[in-house]
Amino acid sequence: MLHCNKWILRITLWNLKLNKPLLIDHSFEDWDWEGVPNFRMEQVRDWIFEKGQLDWGKMSNLPKSLKEKLTERYDLVPMKIMRVQGSKDTTQKFLWRLRDHQLIESVLIRANQDALGNRSSRLTLCVSTQVGCALGCKFCASGLDGLKRNLTTGEIVGQILLARKEAGRRIDNLVFMGMGEPLANLRALLPALDQILSPRGLGIGARHLTLSTSGLVPKILELAKYPAQIRLAISLHGGDNETRRKIMPINDRYPIEELFKACEKFIEKRRKMITLEYILIENLNDDLQQAELLATHARRLNAKINLIPYNQVDGLEWRRPTLPRIRAFQKKVEQGKAPKVTLRMEKGHDIEAACGQLRLQESSNLS
Ligand code: SF4
Repeated sequence: MLHCNKWILRITLWNLKLNKPLLIDHSFEDWDWEGVPNFRMEQVRDWIFEKGQLDWGKMSNLPKSLKEKLTERYDLVPMKIMRVQGSKDTTQKFLWRLRDHQLIESVLIRANQDALGNRSSRLTLCVSTQVGCALGCKFCASGLDGLKRNLTTGEIVGQILLARKEAGRRIDNLVFMGMGEPLANLRALLPALDQILSPRGLGIGARHLTLSTSGLVPKILELAKYPAQIRLAISLHGGDNETRRKIMPINDRYPIEELFKACEKFIEKRRKMITLEYILIENLNDDLQQAELLATHARRLNAKINLIPYNQVDGLEWRRPTLPRIRAFQKKVEQGKAPKVTLRMEKGHDIEAACGQLRLQESSNLS
């Protein structure tokens, strides 16, 4: 077995060695191609970020010699589509194969209504930041297999470029709630955010970006220094430490009090409301006492609450509460004068859109 693992490691390293550098691992401002005039680099930038063209051969206004030189030097395609689930007018889930054959997922969500109930056609992409995850939140399929590796900057940006191509239109919102803990990969994520936000990159406004964290306190403080006004969501899922630690093992390292102090510092720096995400799991965190605690926390942080009924995961025994129980919980939180409460009946329940499920299924099909 040990022998076999060594071989797998060697093959993976060999594959990575064979790969050329991925151009979009670096932001446009850092491209440095000796002797290539700026206007040519600008043409390449336009092909990639404006037109979504990731084939050197199809960049028709570049001279042949430059296309050959660039093809030799850089990869443009960070991942290929392996599977798509769902349909074009509902939630679509993409399973991508990275250049070293690891699998990740992104989910495209279509909204029919905006926050005020008006008709809307907003497109949101749920983006992954790691292959697997080390945090092991108990409701999540991504954590079942542990962490394989961090995604690179280009693999994060690439999900948006490729999903946009699949959708055939601009993506309006990004939520970093896919596979992985985004704040555990800030080294690749912050340069990816620079590319996403830059008008010379994807040009998506900061207020359309939400980062969700399980509660990595030092990283929340680090993120608070990032200049753009991105949104922060905290996966809370328990009103007290005893309940939360049954769902989120990270709570042993960063208990609620410590987490909230970091949130307060984040809010103080950014002057922006944060969101408390709360997955409702039957007989675990869905009693009315938890609802009262949740309202108290939301008042203290002046935070929005997002209630999400649990999405069944194969291999895990927890269940979604009944609708009357969900409504009773919501009512109690509202009576507790939480600043804003929404109930998100998760889209894509029928296509295993919950974090990590499609990848697990595909990996077991392949094994
Ligand atoms: S919920 Fe997020 S942080 Fe927790 S295990 Fe899943 S991917 Fe990791």
